[in-house]
Amino acid sequence: YWLYESIKDIRFEDVYDLGKELGKGGTSVVHECNRIGSSEKWAAKVIQKKVDKRIVTAEIGILLSVSHENIIRLKEVFETPNHFFMVLELVTGGELFDRIVSRGSYNEKDASQCIRQLLDGLRYLHERGIIHRDLKPENLLYEDEREEAKLKIADFGLSKIADSDVHTRSVCGTPGYCAPEVLLRRGCGTAMDMWSVGVIAFILLGGYEPFYADNDSDMYRRILRAQYTFDQRWWSGISKNARDLIERLLVLDADARLTAGQALRHPWVGGLAAREDSLA
Ligand code: ADP
Ligand code: MG
Repeated sequence: YWLYESIKDIRFEDVYDLGKELGKGGTSVVHECNRIGSSEKWAAKVIQKKVDKRIVTAEIGILLSVSHENIIRLKEVFETPNHFFMVLELVTGGELFDRIVSRGSYNEKDASQCIRQLLDGLRYLHERGIIHRDLKPENLLYEDEREEAKLKIADFGLSKIADSDVHTRSVCGTPGYCAPEVLLRRGCGTAMDMWSVGVIAFILLGGYEPFYADNDSDMYRRILRAQYTFDQRWWSGISKNARDLIERLLVLDADARLTAGQALRHPWVGGLAAREDSLA
């Protein structure tokens, strides 16, 4: 892809105008952008390159082919000596993180809808061998401002493209969502994402982090023992099914964790009828 772009000598600035900043992360800034000569709006994620990193052509091919309603689409990629420009589907509904903060916690129906959409997107990615690796509420974005807006998975695979050697990466950006096998540098399968889903479900329903601790080393210790509790103060009104799902995700043994497909069939997540029953 890189070769293709360099042969055609198309530069990001030739095709898009960069607009206002939408957000930023560790090594990237996301801007709104406009396709020149049209009214099309996209998001441009500008990633600062680390030395000696090139786009992995095979990877980018897979990411460009991803098409699912719960996943932010990647439209095209540009490369310059110092940056990658990723042109992404633009969404305007903000981060799940902000909705959690403003609402305190989600009711069960909202939480299960949110988790179902997350699992739908994740099953699709996992079927294609794509592991997200950094699932957390900041990386889940709403399509628009409406309460019933679609939830979309963002920030997947991109860091891997810009930094293909997974093992040299710092363990993870946000330890609170990180699976035990990742902390131990012992695993890198799709199950690591399922652990994060368990943490996200816990936060949506309980309103606090399952492995919260004052410092990182205490947090690691708690994660490595899967040590969390459903504090009665916050969990007494929450269904057994919701807790059951979390208990099948926050499992130390990665092989014993539910897969995305299995979690979608769990009664708390499953079909509408099942869900109404299980929330009763
Ligand atoms: P990083 O890898 O640096 O965490 P992200 O891809 O998560 O970068 O983007 C950082 C922030 O930018 C997100 O949390 C979100 O607020 C915003 N953002 C990212 N992608 C989009 C998008 N497609 N549309 C709108 N805002 C976005
Ligand atoms: Mg992010």
